[in-house]
Amino acid sequence: MLELKDIKKHYHVGDTTTKALDGVSVAFRRQEFVAILGASGSGKTTMLNVIGGLDNYDSGDMIIDGKSTKTFKDADWDAYRNNSIGFVFQSYNLIGHLGIIDNVELGMTLSGVSKEEKNQRAEDALRRVGLADHMHKKPNQLSGGQMQRVAIARALANDPDILLCDEPTGALDTETSVQIMNLIQELSKEKLVIMVTHNPTLANEYADRIIEFSDGRIMNDSHPHIEGEKGEQFQLKRTKMKFMTALKLSFNNLRTKKGRTFLTAFASSIGIISIGIVLSLSSGFQKQIDSTQAETMAKYPITISKTTTDQTANRNQALGSDKASKTSNENKNNIVAKISDEDKAQHTNKLNQDYVDYINKIDPKLSNNIGFTRVVGMNLLRDVDGDVKPVKLSNEAPDSGPSMMSAMSSMTGMGVSSFPTQLDKSSGNFLEDNYKLLSGAYPKANTDVVLIVDANNSTNINSLKNLGFDIKDGDKLDFDKIIGTEFKLINNNEYYSKLPTGNFIPNNDYKAMYDNANNDVLKISGILRVKSSSTMNLLAPGIAYSNELTSKIVNDNENSEIVKAQRDVNTNVMTNEALDDTTKESTIAYLGGDSIPSSIMIYPNNYKDKEQILSYLDDYNKGKKKEDKIIYTDLAGTMTELTGGLMDAITYVLVAFAGISLVTSMIMIGIITYTSVIERTKEIGVLKALGARKKDITRVFDAETCILGVASGTLGVVIAYLATFPINAILYNMTELKNVAQLNPVHGIILIVVSTVLTMIGGHIPAKMAAKKDAAIALRAE
Ligand code: ADP
Ligand code: MG
Repeated sequence: MLELKDIKKHYHVGDTTTKALDGVSVAFRRQEFVAILGASGSGKTTMLNVIGGLDNYDSGDMIIDGKSTKTFKDADWDAYRNNSIGFVFQSYNLIGHLGIIDNVELGMTLSGVSKEEKNQRAEDALRRVGLADHMHKKPNQLSGGQMQRVAIARALANDPDILLCDEPTGALDTETSVQIMNLIQELSKEKLVIMVTHNPTLANEYADRIIEFSDGRIMNDSHPHIEGEKGEQFQLKRTKMKFMTALKLSFNNLRTKKGRTFLTAFASSIGIISIGIVLSLSSGFQKQIDSTQAETMAKYPITISKTTTDQTANRNQALGSDKASKTSNENKNNIVAKISDEDKAQHTNKLNQDYVDYINKIDPKLSNNIGFTRVVGMNLLRDVDGDVKPVKLSNEAPDSGPSMMSAMSSMTGMGVSSFPTQLDKSSGNFLEDNYKLLSGAYPKANTDVVLIVDANNSTNINSLKNLGFDIKDGDKLDFDKIIGTEFKLINNNEYYSKLPTGNFIPNNDYKAMYDNANNDVLKISGILRVKSSSTMNLLAPGIAYSNELTSKIVNDNENSEIVKAQRDVNTNVMTNEALDDTTKESTIAYLGGDSIPSSIMIYPNNYKDKEQILSYLDDYNKGKKKEDKIIYTDLAGTMTELTGGLMDAITYVLVAFAGISLVTSMIMIGIITYTSVIERTKEIGVLKALGARKKDITRVFDAETCILGVASGTLGVVIAYLATFPINAILYNMTELKNVAQLNPVHGIILIVVSTVLTMIGGHIPAKMAAKKDAAIALRAE
């Protein structure tokens, strides 16, 4: 059934060539016990390996059941070893980390025999070799003879046609050797058994046929055989290892090295830990930014002023200016006059009634509070202990230039003095939401004004001085002294007199004007304090009045004498100063002649609503020319973007650093796998002898790195998760922010996957190397 025809095999190591087989021709019967005798180094093992398909011959041919093996591919050899060959080695070659039954089952596992059948056949084989009582032990709990019995059981389990034994009793005492020889002899009744030995006594006593070997040649054959015509065509069942089998094999192997596996997993999890912590911190910070900033900052209004800076234009200019400066360098003898980038970015919003109407159409559900600021002077008189004198609602130092400036300046800087109109009275009152009532009452009528104080109950001294309070820096004033303070609002027509020259001057009989029954009475109704110190001051400390008050003043004075007169001339009707278009416009506005607000503030209800309002505002500009566009300022958004961008940048840098440690751990896994390959060389040989394909060997090691990767990833994620607790405690102590570090479960899963994939990549190269290992050499390794 098996014939070797002039088989030659040479080993090349460096420059020397060793002749291992030198033209071996021999044929074997389907059933006989052949002993091969010969000195050490005569080529016996090499011939056995060639017959078993563990080693390739250089020339000649091996015929199996009439079929030449010249055209055999790897897969054919694998199948041949698995189906037809059983190996028994001198050094047993059991896999130490597998149980005895698992060792015996391994070959069947490779050929995909079902679990029950596998188990049945393994138990039968073990019973047959006389190990019924030791089945559930580990190889290292057995004696040498018992281990060799397991090896024989393993060779038998897949019911091979040929049993190849390489000095099976070489390591055993005489008594045990006899038992093993009896067993092998019994098996030779049904199979072809080829046994290498250097013990002629044993050979003579048990074998049917003795072949003597010397220097790679057959010197003598006691019972030669001439192979007849070919027998039945033999069919080989291909082997295939399931990934689950590979996993189990590797898992068992790792289990025997618990300490080392844990240390490896831990060391390689450090990269995952650091990335996990960085991610949990950054996503936690982002959440903090989103929640606190979005909610508190979203209250900060979107501002639309007459003059504004176009942020996008500024950026474009900055980019363009580089090119411009290059070309201007070529002009050696002249200078280039240029409008500054800042000035170019200046944009004048042409606010008009259309736009005001557009704004007024904003859904109150998105913004319930819209403020319209007007640069309008108020003619105010107050009776201070019987002395009637002009007062003003302003934070400017008294006597610091024209009062128009003060009205303007109250809009620049942080906070404004007019609070917005509440559109829907049922919800979202601006003052009640953001300001706490310290004394008095929230304003009810348009003519009620309030005093705003900061978190320390202090307010702007000028606002009190301008109202006629006699007060010095640091003075304290009782709430009662302020609440209920009244002053009167005088109409332009009462306040100004027209001179015969056509000029207007303020009247100086304050008492008479004050007593006029048509006056509106303004009253300080309450003192309000900003609710939380973290909220920015929406209103400037000082007197704040309602939006409606200024609209009312404009309404009352739009058609007053002085406004009409001012519209007709290009000089100031009071001072005769010449006016250009802009100054004329602002003078009219100051006198109450302009119903269009100078700025609009939209206070969104929350972050989401703000987004909707912004897109509503963007819609207005669609298809408009640049100069007709209305540009808004979203200060809160700009700041959120800034901090968000900063967070992103920091996260990238940290992740990059953490990534380096991940790569380091990947390399480490590679090295560990490589050592494991070296350590498990024997096992690779055994697996090959049992018919494992290269792919299967790769799989075993891939499975091992897969387990390591999952373990280190999971360990890393768990440690990173646990680390968030102390980190949060420390951060809470430092910043009073709660639960900043939060590991997103999705990130956790991604990290485990990344760890697994990376370690598998790192281990795959050594795994490939393992698969390429020569089985014959692997089995010779000690
Ligand atoms: P035996 O089993 O009869 O002792 P072997 O078949 O193991 O002999 O070896 C035959 C010859 O081939 C020896 O000279 C040995 O040194 C050589 N040999 C075996 N394997 C290798 C190898 N992998 N590389 C180089 N030489 C080898
Ligand atoms: Mg040998």
